[in-house]
Formats: sequence, structure tokens, C-alpha cells
Amino acid sequence: MILDAALARVDQSELIELTRDLVRIPSVVRPDRSAGEGEVARYVERWLRREGLAVEVHEVAPGRPNVIAWLGDKGSGRSLLLEGHTDVVTEGDPSEWRHPPFAAALADGRIYGRGAADMKGGLAGAMIAAAAIRRSGVPLRGRLVVGALVDEEADMLGARHFCTTPIGRELDAAIICEPEQNEVCLEQRGVVWARVAIRGRMGHGAMPEASVNPIGAVGALLREVPALERRLRRLCRRSRYLRPPTVTPTVVQAPALGIGQSNVIPSSARVVLDVRLTPGPDHAEVGAELDAACRRAMARCPGATVEWEPVNGFRLATRVERREPLVSAVATGVRQATGRAPRFGGVPGSTDGTILRMSLGIPIVTLGPGHRQIPHQVNEYVDTGELFDAARIYVAAALNFL
Ligand SMILES: [Zn+2]
Repeated sequence: MILDAALARVDQSELIELTRDLVRIPSVVRPDRSAGEGEVARYVERWLRREGLAVEVHEVAPGRPNVIAWLGDKGSGRSLLLEGHTDVVTEGDPSEWRHPPFAAALADGRIYGRGAADMKGGLAGAMIAAAAIRRSGVPLRGRLVVGALVDEEADMLGARHFCTTPIGRELDAAIICEPEQNEVCLEQRGVVWARVAIRGRMGHGAMPEASVNPIGAVGALLREVPALERRLRRLCRRSRYLRPPTVTPTVVQAPALGIGQSNVIPSSARVVLDVRLTPGPDHAEVGAELDAACRRAMARCPGATVEWEPVNGFRLATRVERREPLVSAVATGVRQATGRAPRFGGVPGSTDGTILRMSLGIPIVTLGPGHRQIPHQVNEYVDTGELFDAARIYVAAALNFL
């Protein structure tokens, strides 16, 4: 059996050690740029080259390279991406961790450390899967790509750049290896960060009648939030896998610039609304609802202006149909690799997959090892059994699809 030959090449202890090596290289993108993805990207590049994959490195920003590797030619076949990101979020206060955050401690069948689940485990699984296929000598009818991209935790610069490259543009489908407990996730919530700029007129705190206080408009806008959320919920399709849309204020700031003073009415204020969406509406429909909320707030606060703009554009929710060849390749792969029935699910946040979906229009499935709620917490871990299953699922899914 071709599949058995490739699955037999997935070595659990090699996978565990690879994951631990990746976790031990801190790739937190610090505000002072003292670390970043550079070192872990170089490790990934060397490892993939040693395994005989073709490799390209694209410098997306200074010291921040995407590593793209592939096996086989697309020819008249398909091209499938296994996607991971190399950046991790901050470890926070190391004293809150049971094991040091970058020691990659192995205990109770788990690897502990920042990035163990989000998502060096998934990335290692993708690397091992491609290497196993290559080592087994199984021929592919198409191209298997492994992408280790930068900046997922911030602006997704790596995914945006990758979509402009020839290898990226030729993709037919992608598996996003983010921690979802190895569920076959068919949907992802979208996100829009609406940055609302509110302008009034500066004045003396003792004479509010001689100025326009933007803070009044902030209050009016916050009172609009529940109604905005209800309207978005009506607009979005109800989902089996995702929580309904939410609108959450995450930044409220006045004055928008400089330091506040007790007796000064500021000229400006700023609010950020974190808007999460399920599949359904397009940019224009979501934008119209945000416009309406701003207009209502403005009407309650004569003289103030309330305008919003998206931070980093729109990322709409994604959805892939059960009948897509990618979905059956992955679902069948779960059965073949684990002997268990696939569980279907949805991704509560948004990932690089939303960028790939929007830019390239390709179907994406998110599946990876790690508890769904563990990312960004202290004592982050990945279960080694789940990690092993994920790598085997990637092998089977790739061979089914290609
Ligand atoms: Zn992630």
C-alpha cells in the first residue's frame, strides 16, 4: 500500500524532537525587533533542504523571511499547501509558567512552551509529513507545498506576500495547521477592526457650552454596539460550527493624541471595535452597518464627527462546502491515519487561511494539533499523541488530494 509506506515514515520521536527544537528558538516579535522569525526560519529552511525539498526564502520585511518548500511539479495535477506560521506571541511573565516558556519541557505526554500548539507543533507536523512522503518515494500527481510564514499574530504580512508569489498563485487548496484538536474545520470567523475617529472641538472644562466634547459621541457610539451586533447577526448566516457575530469595544481613548488634562475638553477620541463575523455578508454590507452606527452616534452629538476605517482591511469569514475534494481528502485522511471518524468544526478566530481564501479564492480546511483554547495562555502545550496523529493525517490527506 502506497499510503502505508508513507505513513510508516512518520517517526513520532523525530517529530517530538523537531517540535521541541522549534519551540526552543524564541520567535516572539518584540516591539524593539530584538528577536523575530529569522532564526527559526533558518532552522526550517536547513531542515527542509536536508530532506531534499526545493526551497525558496522570501524576505517579507527586514529579518522576517517566509520559507516555502515543495515536492513535485504541479503539471496537470493540483497544488496543495500545508501552512504554518513561525511567529509566536509573547510569553508574558515567565514566573507564571510551570516549565520555562522556551525550554520545550516534555512531561505527561505533552510538550510545554510558547508556540508548542500555536503553532510550532503543527508546522513540525507539516514538515515531517512532507519528508515522510519524500522518503517513501511515493510519487505525487501534483505539488505538495510547505509554507512557514511570518507575522500571523499581527498583520499577516507573510500570508499576504505569499499570495503574490508564483508558487502561491498556483495553489489549488490549503490545509492550515493551526491548533484545532485535529478537527476538520470547515469555517473560520472573520474579523474587522473598526477604528473609529471622533472629532469635537477643544475647550475649557468649565465652559462645555463653548466646545464640542467628543466623549459624548464615544458614549453614544458604545450605546449603539448591541444594536449593531444584532443587525450583523441577522445579516450573517447561522453556523453549526461558529459562535454568532460579536462586536466588542477593545480600545477607548480620549484624547486620541497626547495626555488628558482634568480641565480640558479634548478635541478628539478614538474607539476600536473588534467585529467578528460568520459567513454571509460581503464588505459592503458589513461596512454599511458600521456606517449606520457611526451616523446614529453623530446625530446624538451635534457638532462631532464620527468616522470609521478598517485596520488592516476586511477579513471576511470563510467557509468550505463538505462536497469539496479537499474536504473529502482530509476527512478520509483522518479515518486512514487514526482509524477514527472525522470530527468537523469551526475556527473561532481568524488565521492566515482567511488571507489565502480572500486573495486566491481557494478552499481551505483548518486542522492541527493542540487544544483550541490553549493559544496565547501560560503553560501552553501540545499533546504528543495528537501531534503524531496530525502529521499522519497530513500525509494521508496530501496523498488523497494529489
Ligand atoms: Zn496561530
